Amino acid sequence: MKIICYAVLPVEKPYISSWAEKNKVEIKMIPEELSSNNAYLVKGFDGVSSEGITPVDEKVYETLEKHGIKQLAIRQVGVDNQDLQAAKNHGITITNVAVYSPRAIAEMGVTQAMYLLRKIGVYKNRMSQNDYTWDESTISTEIFNCTVGLIGAGHIGGATAQIYHALGAKVITHDPGYDASLEPYMDYTDLDTLLKKSDIISLHTPLLESTRNIINYESLKKMKHNAILINMARGELVDTKALIKALKNKEIAGAGLDTLSDEITFFGKHKNYAQVPNDYQQLNEMPNVLITPHIAFFTKLAIQNSMEIALNDAKNVILGKGSRNIVN
Ligand code: NAD
Repeated sequence: MKIICYAVLPVEKPYISSWAEKNKVEIKMIPEELSSNNAYLVKGFDGVSSEGITPVDEKVYETLEKHGIKQLAIRQVGVDNQDLQAAKNHGITITNVAVYSPRAIAEMGVTQAMYLLRKIGVYKNRMSQNDYTWDESTISTEIFNCTVGLIGAGHIGGATAQIYHALGAKVITHDPGYDASLEPYMDYTDLDTLLKKSDIISLHTPLLESTRNIINYESLKKMKHNAILINMARGELVDTKALIKALKNKEIAGAGLDTLSDEITFFGKHKNYAQVPNDYQQLNEMPNVLITPHIAFFTKLAIQNSMEIALNDAKNVILGKGSRNIVN
């Protein structure tokens, strides 16, 4: 069997090679994302895998069909850049990787919360100016005295609940769904109670119409003055202008953000500081704000899992065995 993998990063190559060897599959890796310009390269292969970042038009599926390809294994959760029906019309089964390592994102959220709770950014800022003092404004809270509010308790929220619970914090959650297996780690509550009671508020919902700007002027006003907001999910869950205002007015104590609503213009790219959005610049200059460029997922296990799950699906679909990750 021969599979062509598009959009392969150097960090992914060893995992793909090791899977290929174990499964006795020949794999060609190329760095470019699958597109109508390079879809012809599938000629002579049995299967295809790619990231799903670039929108794909129908021509791609036509080309895949022409060369006898029956599947496309996307190595991420989102398939919003695929035309699922068009792919189906051309006999292409698309699979995604819905869960690759919830712990990776959960651990990053907790790490950022601890950094902010212990005011490490404030100390770093002071010490960079030769100020080695501490005072009443930098006194911290211990995590086991905190109430942590999770908005969304699916795979990542659930893993986050288990980590905070293990650290001794009280965990409360707002989620319209219910998962009995998470009951030992947290209590379900309504959004208002969560906003008012939590010392750390951590976001883990998908971006939906019901969750867009779920953190806005009104919700920030309900939070405690010592509250820390953590967003490991999607930038658009937070009204950034409202967040900047709340931080400037000391209405909340800090924010840890792995995602921003305008991140697509600069995350993952080299940019001059003058070119990055003003909202980012304002947030970045606050010692009580921590921003990472959407890398909460970026661990060895997550990369290995996403490669292996996608390639196993590719192989199984080619062999007619199906997959539970089929999305069309
Ligand atoms: P999931 O589908 O397992 O869980 C999402 C949860 O949100 C569900 O339990 C759902 O009921 C809940 N939810 C839906 N609407 C809600 C609402 N209005 N209020 C409260 N809860 C609501 O998803 P997941 O795997 O836990 O991922 C969550 C999100 O994390 C993803 O949608 C994605 O945006 C983000 N994510 C970020 C990274 C990163 O690297 N930063 C990586 C992967 C995923």
